[in-house]
Amino acid sequence: MSIESTQLRLRLTNNQEILKQLKRNKAIRTDAKGEYLPIQFDGYQYDFRAGKVLTVGKSVGNALIRSSAVIMGDHLVGDYAAGVEEIGSYQLGVEQAPEDEAKVTTCQVCKLNCHTLPRLARHLMSQHTSDRADLYPKEEKPLPNEAQVFGKDADAETLGSK
Ligand SMILES: [Zn+2]
Repeated sequence: MSIESTQLRLRLTNNQEILKQLKRNKAIRTDAKGEYLPIQFDGYQYDFRAGKVLTVGKSVGNALIRSSAVIMGDHLVGDYAAGVEEIGSYQLGVEQAPEDEAKVTTCQVCKLNCHTLPRLARHLMSQHTSDRADLYPKEEKPLPNEAQVFGKDADAETLGSK
């Protein structure tokens, strides 16, 4: 089996109605570790347990989701629902964590990456305490001139209508 570049993260559904239907269909098994939904694909058995995430290649993942489908309620009119859900995907060989970390530890004022949260906190305290206004977008500051103009207009209208 070759490794696919797109990996899916799968979990057992939280949907109580679907879980009930899976139990009714006797698809849910129990072992020493508790209840699980076993799904066979390509000679392997994948056990889905509450609170556990399985990471598999995209085509395997999509096959597992299809295989986990149950008919809800009346078999003649019921809708299909999947017992296994995809909660995300990622590309192998693409480093995502460092980029995400950089966003969190980058100063929003001067765009300096401080690399750790304590250092970012110290940076903000030492570099930006005197110009706190820079922490907020410029457009959110009131524009005194416009406010005055509108204020005058409003007063003029009120006076005029009397
Ligand atoms: Zn800064």
